[in-house]
Amino acid sequence: MIVLKSAREIEIMRRAGSVLADVVERLREIVTPGISTLEIDEDVETFIASRGAQPAFKGYRGFPATVCVSINDEVVHGIPSAQRRIKEGDIVGLDLGCIVDGYYADCAFTLPIGEIPADVQRLLDVTRESLERAIAECRRGRRLSDVSHAVQSHVETHGFSVVRAFVGHGIGRALHEEPQVPNFGEPGRGPELRPGMVLAIEPMVTMGSWEVTILDDGWTAVTRDGSLAAHFEHTIAVTEHGPEVLTRR
Ligand code: MG
Repeated sequence: MIVLKSAREIEIMRRAGSVLADVVERLREIVTPGISTLEIDEDVETFIASRGAQPAFKGYRGFPATVCVSINDEVVHGIPSAQRRIKEGDIVGLDLGCIVDGYYADCAFTLPIGEIPADVQRLLDVTRESLERAIAECRRGRRLSDVSHAVQSHVETHGFSVVRAFVGHGIGRALHEEPQVPNFGEPGRGPELRPGMVLAIEPMVTMGSWEVTILDDGWTAVTRDGSLAAHFEHTIAVTEHGPEVLTRR
């Protein structure tokens, strides 16, 4: 069942989203060569607490950290570590969620560290653009798979691949609610979008094959062919006036 949110509930989720928007700005400053992924995680956990929010991922199905840090061929769910340090030329996926007054917000972005090749920058740009196209579909009367199709068509037009194994999701009183939001599919299918739906849309895109495999840590998803991957995500409310991105300033 898809739970519609009231204006009051969306206002709470807007507050959760604004905490994450501020974390993103902070991460753009602190994620630089030499910092360990554990130091990133500790910084974000402290920051989220200072804003009166709680981390959404820590303890979720046993995940041990506040931020998922996924570098280069890691697609999602990388576990922060004191041994893992950011290097010049990395692309770093940062996925974060928080809870305010019982409501969740979820967002992610992929940050280039220093100089990266033009084709890798293109991967990041196309992934971000595919999310924007999906957001534009979040309006009354569109069908759920119109969102999915917007991602896939843009990504594949540019010669990249959409990961199948992970999908976006409804979000609210739980991190993962119905419906699932795949990043691929034919348009015009699934439930009609209605005001009050809140979706976390999160294209995961690779430069090679879309197949992924999970490392022995039980969490980290990497591309099977070792190709680079990007991940962008926002939490979006469908409103009477169209899409409202809750995790953006
Ligand atoms: Mg998510």
